[in-house]
Amino acid sequence: MASRDYSQMGANTRLAHAGNDPRDFFGFVNPPVVHASTVLYPDTATMVARAQKYTYGTRGTPTTDALAAAVDALEGSAGTIVVPSGLAAVTVPLLAFLSSGDHILITDSVYHPTRHFADTMLRRLGVEVDYYDPLIGAGIDTAMKPNTRVVFTESPASNTFEIQDIPAIARVAKARGAIVMMDNTWATPLFFRPLDHGVDISIHAATKYPAGHSDVLAGTVSANEACWSKLQETFFTLGCCCGPDDVYQVLRGLRTMGVRLERHQQSALELARWLENQPGVARVLHPGLESNPGHAIWKRDFSGASGIFSIVLDGGGAARGYAFLDALRIFGLGYSWGGFESLAVAPLIGDRVIARSAYEGALLRLQVGLEDVADLKADLERGLAAAAA
Ligand SMILES: *Cc1c(COP(=O)(O)O)cnc(C)c1O
Repeated sequence: MASRDYSQMGANTRLAHAGNDPRDFFGFVNPPVVHASTVLYPDTATMVARAQKYTYGTRGTPTTDALAAAVDALEGSAGTIVVPSGLAAVTVPLLAFLSSGDHILITDSVYHPTRHFADTMLRRLGVEVDYYDPLIGAGIDTAMKPNTRVVFTESPASNTFEIQDIPAIARVAKARGAIVMMDNTWATPLFFRPLDHGVDISIHAATKYPAGHSDVLAGTVSANEACWSKLQETFFTLGCCCGPDDVYQVLRGLRTMGVRLERHQQSALELARWLENQPGVARVLHPGLESNPGHAIWKRDFSGASGIFSIVLDGGGAARGYAFLDALRIFGLGYSWGGFESLAVAPLIGDRVIARSAYEGALLRLQVGLEDVADLKADLERGLAAAAA
């Protein structure tokens, strides 16, 4: 049986079937977890010509191919690499496309470790680094230089969730000959498909919703046709492949990502709406709320919202935020997100150079898990009561 083309089918059908063809492995539903360094060749002629599909463990196995093909089906990309963390999914494409003397524009609301990589390693390698206002839109034209090679976007923003006008930014960048990369971890390819909006490279911390269980670190980078060979070549050059068990766990997580995300979305929106009307809460930063300044662009470009957003307390500074967090019993105090369990954290946004908001009080980020909303609401009530005390 020929492998079916799932590209025109619904997202949940793609999640359930894309990647591997069970007939390739005796009908078993899931692909094998191939642990491999060495691949044997039948003779020297084949070896010298590298004339077989698999040549060495770092360059791909049936397990990594299954995940990469599944992500391609979701992203509409020409090719996908699988790397050992979401941070590696940021650094590998930057190393692939930037050279000494190039200029990069990065959104000021970027995931902090991305900024750290740019400010330290990229600068040391002779790359000029500048940050832009996440709300700049087509105005990015004024920030572009003749040597701007990459525009790095992330929408919505880490921790503060401002929505960027990705199509407008991509149009300008493209006209100026720059490559557009997007960290699309928040939306997953189910709620936003960057390549459909002019982005060249889509980046994911597969650690988050794709893996979904807080037990795996992985990243994926998906490229359009024009950027794929350079991305793949850099991946081979750096040798930063992801281990087979982790790759398999991400593929396993993907199969249920659609139903998990529906629940994350619904619960997070319900709590965000409720929080908007609670005393002690000054703002709720969630692009799915009609009150959010980015709501119109979010509605135009995205087909959903995932389960992470922030609130700003009504005065009291950091101490009131800590009182809120310490009172929680279901929301765990910890970094990362995208797993089945709820988490809360007071993120630091002092690294920003442009997008500085004067918030009324502590900024608290909530990852809404798969628990019952009534229990989560009661937990947040405990937090608000402690903050008010
Ligand atoms: C978590 C995260 C990453 C990094 O993922 P890790 O697997 O934890 O390294 C990258 N980008 C964004 C937006 C993230 O939230």
